[in-house]
Amino acid sequence: MMDRPLLLLDVDGPLNPFRSRLAGLHGYTTHRMRPALWMSRRAPDSPSARRGLRVRLHPTHGPRLQALPFELAWATTWMHQANTMISPHIGLPGDLPVIEWPELFAHDPDGLYWKTRPLLEWAAGRPFAWVDDMITAKDRAWARAHYPAPSLLLRIHPRHGLRARDFTTLTRWAASLPGA
Ligand SMILES: [Mg+2]
Repeated sequence: MMDRPLLLLDVDGPLNPFRSRLAGLHGYTTHRMRPALWMSRRAPDSPSARRGLRVRLHPTHGPRLQALPFELAWATTWMHQANTMISPHIGLPGDLPVIEWPELFAHDPDGLYWKTRPLLEWAAGRPFAWVDDMITAKDRAWARAHYPAPSLLLRIHPRHGLRARDFTTLTRWAASLPGA
């Protein structure tokens, strides 16, 4: 049995469906949070900072992610605050590995999503799946051409967040890996 593949998690989009219309969201809980990056872009005494960022989370996402045959890690601008602010609300452990980006929102010379290169480097040749709302066909093509192991770049619509069919896709992909 080989090492489990990695499952790299974005927060805003897959776990926090920030583009959703409230009426369409079942089972989510709403939270107000003040993550460091978000706070760094507003005056601390502004109405927006006082209210906090609205974050919607689904309490079953953690258990369902943990039931998948993957090793979980964070791939989000929340960085370590995903462990401290997001995990407690969705039932994930507070000590998942975190990708520390060398530069947030860096310009990419080939038009890739800014996370793509550092994420592939971090994954270090292990098979990985990645859920994020900003993945494009360019990123998939680049991973296919340059990454030495199987990868699944799964774009999650920020209106819906992770849905049953995404869990099915992840499960099937993991089962399709050589040695699985
Ligand atoms: Mg996102």
